[in-house]
Amino acid sequence: MTGLYQLAVGSKTVPLSSCLLRGGDDQPVDFGYSFWLVDHAGGLLLVDCGFREAAAARKSIRYERTPLEALALLGIGGAEIDGIVLTHLHFDHAGALPDFPNARVYVQARDLEYFTGPLMRFPLCASGIDADDMTAVERIRGDGRLEVLAGDAEIVPGVRAQVVGGHTPGSQLVSVRRGDRRVVLAGDAAHIQANITLGVPYPVLHSVPDSCLGFEAMREMARDDRTVVIPGHDGAVRRDSTPVSDVPGRSVVELL
Ligand SMILES: [Zn+2]
Repeated sequence: MTGLYQLAVGSKTVPLSSCLLRGGDDQPVDFGYSFWLVDHAGGLLLVDCGFREAAAARKSIRYERTPLEALALLGIGGAEIDGIVLTHLHFDHAGALPDFPNARVYVQARDLEYFTGPLMRFPLCASGIDADDMTAVERIRGDGRLEVLAGDAEIVPGVRAQVVGGHTPGSQLVSVRRGDRRVVLAGDAAHIQANITLGVPYPVLHSVPDSCLGFEAMREMARDDRTVVIPGHDGAVRRDSTPVSDVPGRSVVELL
C-alpha cells in the first residue's frame, strides 16, 4: 500500500439535527461529498466513485468537480482504475460508474438484492437510489466486471470490506492497512463523527439495531491509537487532514 487519498466532489452546509435521527440542534455542519483512492502494489482501487453534476443539482449540493476531474488532479485517468468497492449503492457513492470502464466493481449481495428488489416501489425504501446507477450496475454485470460479495471480504491485500448494515442492508466499512496503521472508511455506516460518538444514526436508515452495533464496532476500532475511523460525509476530515501539496483548495487530502 503506497497511499490512501480522499477526493472531494462537493459539499453542503446542513443543520446538525438533519444528520441525526433524534436530537441535535441547528448548529451548522460542513457536510462533504467524497470518494477515496487506494494506491496499492497491484493497482488503483476506488472506494465509492462519487457522482455527476446532474445529481448534485437535484440535491442542492455545491458541486466542485467530477470524479474524473478530481482524479486528474493526481494525473490519473478513469481507465487506469481497476477496482471500485462500493460502500453501498446510494447515488452519491455509486453515481459515476460508467466513467471507469476497466474497473471490477465490488458490491454486497444484500444491497444489490434490496435495491433491485420489490421494495423499491416504496419511495422511502428507494430514497438515495438513482435508477441510472442501477442500470450501470447491470451493464457492469453483463460485462463480467461485477463482484457480488456475500459478507466480509479481502478485496486486495491490506484492504478489507466488513459488512455492518444499518444505513442500507449491505453497508460495508472498508479498512485500509499500511504497516501497523489502519484507516477505516465508514461509508455511510457513519455520516459524521457525531453519529458514532452519540450512537445516533442519520435519518436515512434501514436498521436501527444494525446501526447501533456498527457504531459500537467503530468506537471499539478507534480505541486503537493506530486506527482512524473516517465518517463518509464529515467535512472535518478534509479540513484536518494533510492536503496533497499541488492540488488547490484541499480537494485531495492524504489519509494514510
Ligand atoms: Zn452518502
